[in-house]
Amino acid sequence: MDPNGAGTEDRLSRDPGNGNELWRVNQALRTLSAGNRTLLRAQQEQDLLLGMCRVIVNEGGYRLAFVAYAQHDEQKSLRIMAYALGRDDQKQRDYFDHLKLTWADDEFGQHSSAVAIRSGEPCIGRKVLDDPGHAPWHADARRLEYRSVSAYPLHIEDNAMGVLLIADSDPDAFDDAEVKLLGELADDLAYGISNLRSRIKRREAEASLERMAFYDALTGLPNRTLFRARLQSAIATARQKHRPLAVLLLSATHFHEINDTLGYHQADLLTCSFGRRLVEAVQEGQLAACVGEAEFALLLPHFDIGEATQAARELVRQFHCPVEVGGLSISVGLSAGIAAFPGHGTDADSLIRRARLAMFDAKRGGRGCAVFTAELEQARSAHLALMIDLRRAIEQKELMLYCQPKIDLASKRIHGAEGLVRWQHPVQGMIPTEEFVRIAESSGLITPLTHRVLEAAFQQSYAWHDAGLDQPLSVNLSARDLRDPALIDKLKSLFATWGTQPEWIQFELTESALMEDPLGALEAIKRIKALGVELFIDDFGIGYSSLSYLHKLPVDAIKIDQSFVMAMPDSAVSAAIVQSTIELGHRLDLEVVAEGVETEAAWNHLVALSCDTAQGFYMARPMPADHFRDWQLHYDAGLGARRTH
Ligand code: C2E
Ligand code: MG
Ligand code: MG
Repeated sequence: MDPNGAGTEDRLSRDPGNGNELWRVNQALRTLSAGNRTLLRAQQEQDLLLGMCRVIVNEGGYRLAFVAYAQHDEQKSLRIMAYALGRDDQKQRDYFDHLKLTWADDEFGQHSSAVAIRSGEPCIGRKVLDDPGHAPWHADARRLEYRSVSAYPLHIEDNAMGVLLIADSDPDAFDDAEVKLLGELADDLAYGISNLRSRIKRREAEASLERMAFYDALTGLPNRTLFRARLQSAIATARQKHRPLAVLLLSATHFHEINDTLGYHQADLLTCSFGRRLVEAVQEGQLAACVGEAEFALLLPHFDIGEATQAARELVRQFHCPVEVGGLSISVGLSAGIAAFPGHGTDADSLIRRARLAMFDAKRGGRGCAVFTAELEQARSAHLALMIDLRRAIEQKELMLYCQPKIDLASKRIHGAEGLVRWQHPVQGMIPTEEFVRIAESSGLITPLTHRVLEAAFQQSYAWHDAGLDQPLSVNLSARDLRDPALIDKLKSLFATWGTQPEWIQFELTESALMEDPLGALEAIKRIKALGVELFIDDFGIGYSSLSYLHKLPVDAIKIDQSFVMAMPDSAVSAAIVQSTIELGHRLDLEVVAEGVETEAAWNHLVALSCDTAQGFYMARPMPADHFRDWQLHYDAGLGARRTH
């Protein structure tokens, strides 16, 4: 026995007979209460197991104790997790370290621990040296000086996941009363294990909640909340030490196009790779965070504007790389915006907001990086105010449809009209169309705007045909409209409502809108074309589409960009571009429209080049749709008069 163990003396002084039984129950009780103390104290599962084994041997005076867990491997091995020995010499310890046990129901698995696990009940073996069933363990019993054993299953969630084994030198140990108490001890131990495990699970759940609250799930980088908190404390330090600091907002260029073309998975991979490269690029004391979709922030303590600009330029340079997208090579990179404390803001929110404004400015201007300026904020608030007004104007149907005629160059007859949206702002007057269309495109308002224009155009087209005028009306669509899943249904419903024939309505799509997402646009265009309408490529010549792409598009006409048409008289290059575009269009069997025809000279030039159709201020400016009929009657009358003379 352990010479230091509390049980040693008691053991030596016990009485034989009934006194012995009482003594044993007392010992078991003492073990139970000492076991409970261990249970309360333990913080780790391993400490609990070891503590319990030691209590059993030291307080209870038993010969040895171990806890083993049933493994669900092929051998059904029993893994010794902790043990304690009455006489803790090296030889005996070696024994445990090399002990191989199984709980399988085979010839090696008939020992009490295995039986207890399989049956889920305590298994007792007394006078083991006299028991032939225990023969394989006789040598062990002699060596470890035990003569009786008791094994108690450890039940966790209705499953005997392990065993507590207690052995004693008394061949008659473990009577019913003692086994009942030791069984309770095993149950307490199992409860303690399960309690510690759920505490760990709870802690892990708390840690993962914290991770979710402060870290970006995709990149693993600190998120906006954590970045803001760190920035706040960095500002406090900078203020105290009278030092500057800079915030960089970085965004992957063309991210949305990549997302739309390649799908979320590839876009996520790209974001992660940007995140990793950013982490590699930051130096000690700096912080990189992921603050939005493919949007990152960098905190640069002590940096002034000059140093921050240099750092931003270097990052933009490092991140510039081409990416293969659907057979096209799209160049991705970073746009960076810079704001500095204290000049651009003295709190975290304004610095982040202003760095972001600068980033958008860099993106818009196609520059790598931009520093915040007060003008950016003024422009932004004006832009925001206009956006709010535009939403209202769309909802309250304040937008108007204007129409501009398209004239057949050979016959001079009206060949159709283009519908152009107008917005008369209650305070600011007419807002330039390109300006508010751009705002609508960047704010998600383009879908309702297009739907309103379509409703007005279908209604107008019906009115014309009802009055016996048969020219088609074309409607401009934006790049975003091509991604509107409701567009086709909207068109079908309008065709049905007004009984519109497919040849009454046409659509115009700018070449640059198509090139934003060439593959997606091709699919969308095919769906629109299936309605039987004619399609125009607008502003042709500035969108860099390739001939092979053009060839694949199911379009009927191209509209030469007005910049070339207007420059024709003064620029031989523009004149050559117009000429070759007309030839190209005709070779591809497409109608060619020239827009921006402002003078008689331009008209005559286009007639000479055999261009098909002309549109421009020379013939008519865009006019309110309900003036068009009067204009047309007047024009036709003039044409007739010219003809008869
Ligand atoms: P666009 O589709 O190329 O339309 C032609 C633009 O050129 C119109 O400008 C028209 O007023 C102008 N224009 C026509 N002839 C001449 C000319 O001889 N000289 C000059 N200097 N300009 C001429 P607007 O109406 O300001 O529209 C600008 C652009 O806004 C349009 O270019 C089109 O891309 C877009 N837009 C107009 N209406 C809509 C719409 O309902 N939906 C969408 N998504 N975009 C629209
Ligand atoms: Mg157009
Ligand atoms: Mg155009």
